[in-house]
Amino acid sequence: MHISDHFNLIHHNTFGIEAHCRRFVEYETADELAEVTRLLADTPHEPCLHIGGGSNLLFTKDFDGTILHSTIATFETIDKGNETLVRVGAGWNWDKLVAKTIELGLYGLENLSYIPGEAGASAVQNIGAYGSEAADTIRAVETVDLKSGEKRVFKADECEYGYRHSVFKTSLRGRYAVTHVHYALKKTFKPNFSYAALAREIAARGKDPEHVTAGEVREVVTAVRRAKLPDPQDVGSAGSFFMNPVVSQDCYEQLRAQHPDLTAYPTADGVKLSAGWLIDRAGWKGYRRGDAGVYPHQALVLVNYGRATGQDIATLAADIQADVKAKFGVDIVPEVNFF
Ligand SMILES: Cc1cc2nc3c(=O)[nH]c(=O)nc-3n(C[C@H](O)[C@H](O)[C@H](O)COP(=O)(O)OP(=O)(O)OC[C@H]3O[C@@H](n4cnc5c(N)ncnc54)[C@H](O)[C@@H]3O)c2cc1C
Repeated sequence: MHISDHFNLIHHNTFGIEAHCRRFVEYETADELAEVTRLLADTPHEPCLHIGGGSNLLFTKDFDGTILHSTIATFETIDKGNETLVRVGAGWNWDKLVAKTIELGLYGLENLSYIPGEAGASAVQNIGAYGSEAADTIRAVETVDLKSGEKRVFKADECEYGYRHSVFKTSLRGRYAVTHVHYALKKTFKPNFSYAALAREIAARGKDPEHVTAGEVREVVTAVRRAKLPDPQDVGSAGSFFMNPVVSQDCYEQLRAQHPDLTAYPTADGVKLSAGWLIDRAGWKGYRRGDAGVYPHQALVLVNYGRATGQDIATLAADIQADVKAKFGVDIVPEVNFF
């Protein structure tokens, strides 16, 4: 276990924001984490935050408390007939995990290639892309209760998964640290083309979608993401800054009457609008204010060109939200976690 005081978080958030925390604790096992909870009990009024790779966080000020980070790196497989259950430590880099499962001939994560972050957060965020989400394969989530130090296993149906949603983000936010995630992966590959544009992209790159391999799907997804999204090594960001808003059918039809090219998808709860389209049409794409800006190739991504503060990004985000509301009457809500 490593404990550092007055720790600079600049390399622990992909926005590249300089912010300090009072105490930074990195632990290697679930038992070590249980010990850490005893330390936390000595300062019960101090805030505590568990982070992963910091790719969905915005620090708007210093964090006056303890930040926890897992480096649990276990990887175990259990044969379940048609499927293999993979039990993974929370500290695994997500994209390395996707690569390793494909190498082992285990399938189900390939559409989620090249998403930044760690395995632990995949179970909190229910990461999603190209028609797949983590919840499609998650069967159980092992945790430690940060209050009592007790271990608790959540079955998938207790995690309340939905679009970028889980119980760990809502009613149990901040209570449990994820230590291991169990993914059920298939032994036979069947591509998931529920997001039709992926099959088109594969065909456009000269591959036959009917006979594509998981490795090829991974290559295409990675190439498309590289072209569309900023690499956090070069330009700070947290990926999509806002969630796509879901509106009523009436609201959608009124908007569509004024904007026939409005991008939207039907869902069980209403019509999902493209937040990127709304921000683009409101005129923000490519906008820059100091070092805070809106990525020129993707209006949904706010970026730090160098020395923006978390407050600069938060102010820009609030201005965009207010403008989209004024122009379209639609509320867009950040996907990124503010601290
Ligand atoms: C360029 C870019 C592209 C992106 N593309 C996508 C995408 O396509 N789809 C998508 O879904 N997301 C995307 N994201 C967002 C991000 O990658 C995901 O949300 C990811 O799961 C965050 O992982 P992390 O380890 O960095 O978590 P962090 O950002 O560190 O934390 C995210 C949340 O999870 C909690 N948390 C993290 N680890 C643990 C743990 N072990 N136990 C308990 N709580 C924990 C934190 O408290 C926080 O609330 C993108 C981000 C970037 C920068």
